[in-house]
Amino acid sequence: MKLVSFNCGRIGLVEPQTGRVVDVTDVAGVEPQAWPPVGMVRLIADWPARRAVLEAAARAREGRPLDEVRLDAPVQWPNKVIAFPANYHAHIDEMKYGTNGGVVSKFQASGQGFFLKANSSLSGPAEPIVLPPLGGREIHHECELGIIVGKRGRAIAREQSHEHVFGFTCLLDMVVRGKEERVMRKSFDTFCPTGPWITTADEVADFGAIEMRLFVNGEERQSATTRDLIVDIPEMIAMSSAVMTLEPGDIIATGTPAGVGPVKDGDVIEIVIDGIGAMRLPVVQGAVGEHAVWDTDKAGFAV
Ligand code: MN
Repeated sequence: MKLVSFNCGRIGLVEPQTGRVVDVTDVAGVEPQAWPPVGMVRLIADWPARRAVLEAAARAREGRPLDEVRLDAPVQWPNKVIAFPANYHAHIDEMKYGTNGGVVSKFQASGQGFFLKANSSLSGPAEPIVLPPLGGREIHHECELGIIVGKRGRAIAREQSHEHVFGFTCLLDMVVRGKEERVMRKSFDTFCPTGPWITTADEVADFGAIEMRLFVNGEERQSATTRDLIVDIPEMIAMSSAVMTLEPGDIIATGTPAGVGPVKDGDVIEIVIDGIGAMRLPVVQGAVGEHAVWDTDKAGFAV
């Protein structure tokens, strides 16, 4: 099943045959226009009780074309956005030896843990990525699979991890390269596009065989499969829940493969994840974001 947030807080199901959106906001128990926009989080938490009613409504109702609605970020107000750093061997190599003659390190994703991105960096498939005006700094795309957590849990064992995965979405982890604190470099508004929908986990036969690609202006820049993850999906659930309670609607960015690179005003980024979804996002130059903290020359190549 594919679940969308649309038109400022409405919930929809995407019909698999037609691609039309069926509005199920009322039977999802969601108040549209509510603030904070936690409707999808509540629906995910209530999913076992509401699923059958939603499916029945979707069968009985008329959908409308996807391009007649404005898609929002599927989960707009999660409890947290967890992100794993460089999680594919080839990307670690490029960060160590790559474009900036960077420092050789003993960096290993399995021993590095995870970080958080600000929830406010989330944006949806209808929004451009807005670049802050930071002089010569490079702002890079990172193509990632996003996990949507379905069930609350702490200290979740690998063997139970599947029960806590609600679904998947496309995710871009945008970042200003440099040596400042990672959370600051990765948390500008629109630096975490997600969408176009949540594909529920039951549609994904093998979490270890999800293929993804990223294109800039039509040219392929990143390509990977979750088979090549260093920290795999069960271990991401186990590691993050060892530290913090995972809540319904939490988002886990699973780390990027090789091929990251800078983007500029006018570029179009396309992310495609087989069986999950695809979205095209324009990149535009914004006017805000400058601050003296970015002025000093720290433009190294930390991740
Ligand atoms: Mn990343």
